[in-house]
Amino acid sequence: MPGSPRTIEPMRLLLVEDESRLAEVVRRGLIEHSYAVDLAGTFAEALDLAATNEYDAIILDRRLPDGDGAQVAAELRRNGSRTPVLMLTARDTVEDRVEGLDLGADDYLVKPFAFPELAARVRALVRRQMPERPPILSAGEIRLDPASHTATHAGEPIKLAPREFAILEYLLRRKGDVVRRGEIEEHSWGGDYESVSNVIDVYIARLRHLTGGERSPIETVRGVGYRLRDG
Ligand code: CA
Repeated sequence: MPGSPRTIEPMRLLLVEDESRLAEVVRRGLIEHSYAVDLAGTFAEALDLAATNEYDAIILDRRLPDGDGAQVAAELRRNGSRTPVLMLTARDTVEDRVEGLDLGADDYLVKPFAFPELAARVRALVRRQMPERPPILSAGEIRLDPASHTATHAGEPIKLAPREFAILEYLLRRKGDVVRRGEIEEHSWGGDYESVSNVIDVYIARLRHLTGGERSPIETVRGVGYRLRDG
């Protein structure tokens, strides 16, 4: 249903830390920052969880009871994973940092650290991974968000069938241009658009109805096609 709240999945993190008190403090802090957090206390557990789940980022302690945490990052990279890794290290030497980064970590933090710094570094790592959100398209009182596949008119959600959505999106992308029926067909029907011109008129009539009726910014350019006025 348009207008109904969409469920937004929380960012999911894997926290690999064997010092249970520290792990608990960090886990709670991250949950307060609206992340979902899985906790691993050993190298084996970390490998297992990382292999079975998709994480937005992994926070990785190096000194684990059964191995070097950096090898978890190395293993992920060997398997082609690009999940960002923030390495936690107690050893603050240049060699140590270089080794961690070479093994596949994207960033590191030296223990002891302040939680806000860890949270900021996680945010930065996750952000780098995010695909750029396409901008919201608008004309007059029409707003269309290609990312969430929703549209509004005068602030009210409008319910659009997939093809109506495709046509409106195309008109918005070409705002101010005269758009020929053939172009609309090509962009909204893909390859499958034999003689749909009169169907387009039906879709356009419905889009007009949904975007202000008489005052809709969708204009007919006689004998050519349509134009979406800005405003
Ligand atoms: Ca440790």
